[in-house]
Amino acid sequence: MKNLIFLLLLISSLSAHPQKRPNIIVFLVDDMGWQDCSLPFWDKPTPQNQIYHTPNMERLAKEGMKFTNAYAAPVCTPSRSSMLSGMNAAHHRITNWTSPYKNTNTDNKDEQMEAAPWMINGLSPVPDIEKTTYATTFPELLRESGYYTIHVGKGHWASRGTPGANPHQMGFMVNIAGHAGGHPQSYLAEDNYGNITGKAQPQAVPDLEEYFGTDTFLTEALTKEAIRALDAPIRNKQPFYLNMAHYAVHLPYMADKRFIQKYFDAGLDSTEAIYAALIEGMDKSLGDIMDFLKKKKVDKNTIIIFMSDNGGLSLAPPRGGKPQTQNFPLKAGKGSVYEGGIREPMIVKWPGVVKPNTVAKQYLIIEDFFPTILQLAGIKNYKTVQTIDGRSFVPILKNSDYTDTSRVLIWHFPNKWTGKDGPGINYFSAIRMGRWKLVYDMRNGKNELYDLTKDIGETENLVSQYPQKVKQLSKILSDSLRKWKSPMPSFKNSGKQVPWPDEL
Ligand code: CA
Repeated sequence: MKNLIFLLLLISSLSAHPQKRPNIIVFLVDDMGWQDCSLPFWDKPTPQNQIYHTPNMERLAKEGMKFTNAYAAPVCTPSRSSMLSGMNAAHHRITNWTSPYKNTNTDNKDEQMEAAPWMINGLSPVPDIEKTTYATTFPELLRESGYYTIHVGKGHWASRGTPGANPHQMGFMVNIAGHAGGHPQSYLAEDNYGNITGKAQPQAVPDLEEYFGTDTFLTEALTKEAIRALDAPIRNKQPFYLNMAHYAVHLPYMADKRFIQKYFDAGLDSTEAIYAALIEGMDKSLGDIMDFLKKKKVDKNTIIIFMSDNGGLSLAPPRGGKPQTQNFPLKAGKGSVYEGGIREPMIVKWPGVVKPNTVAKQYLIIEDFFPTILQLAGIKNYKTVQTIDGRSFVPILKNSDYTDTSRVLIWHFPNKWTGKDGPGINYFSAIRMGRWKLVYDMRNGKNELYDLTKDIGETENLVSQYPQKVKQLSKILSDSLRKWKSPMPSFKNSGKQVPWPDEL
């Protein structure tokens, strides 16, 4: 009898709390810079913070924790592959963006350098696919443990004709608009998002036929689809993972009519007005999803992680203003190993655990999402085919003062992303440990050393003042690159591979 009463109590307690495991949403923006919002991520507001309107990012930060030292890789596919595999880009060796076309190296031609042997077809959930890296993805592990997994928006993990191009193969039960493409052919439903009869476009956005010919901007259509996809798991009380990966705010810059006028009225040039409206459309999507969770009464059991996949584009044109100034006080932008290319706006809301309106200064990187999300889902002792480089940031979520200055972060870009070199763009590696950052220039073998606590803009090279620090960081960086067999370019004139940083 006692056992029966216990059992009945247990059943009633389970039905009162039918779902204990939290829902998890990663809200991933494409190409958004660290300063492209009204929420300041530096220790003081900047003129850029005055330009943008992102009230929902402000709201999320009030309800959660803002990370001021969050990092990703300098461009799309390396970051997205790091997130899904938990591996550093120098380790998975998908160091540049993947072409929608298989076996196509997106590196620009260079007079000095022969291309590095990087994994040009991207990430693969299946072994033995040529020029890919085989890995177990965390959405697959979530799905296996009972999560309802949804991908909405940009995928861009691999080239067409390989398994990694298909979100269903990467562990997602639902896929809306994700494929090999790295940007939308068009943001406009009037253009059918680039699906033009007789004009096959590898970047035409799939799956959104019902919006064709309407005035639904792509960001809005994806938000509506995400909300629709969330209905089933919420109704069935099944924990869900939503990978809300917006195409915004990547090129091509197209005006979101809902928001553009106020930026014209504020006197921005046409490109920057369009860019600011893309940002505000993305922010509205965040707000709509937060409102929906609240309406469905699942907001208190849903963790939201806001992130961008690389730094803001700072080539001008296509951006307005002076080149490489758009991420000030950070140096450079997308494609660069300087802070402007890799430091990201990141916010985490975890109701009941993360203290609202807190700020974490501990640095972390996008491969950390893998072990963190699995820990948030309560999944332990999982098996992966790859070795995970990321570390869980749950200890930071539980204590915003958490500090580990011995943590090492690495960036490796042995590729030619733009035709013309920019600051930290094309053939660079970098390492951060504590306050120190070392930048290695493969073209000339030179190192630069910065103290990020005093010099976030990387303006004062301290190499000659701290030779021991240079030696130490150079050795750690080189040991990692050697261990991972990281791709390196070679010099055309000698045929020799670029030396590891500590060989000089
Ligand atoms: Ca990107």
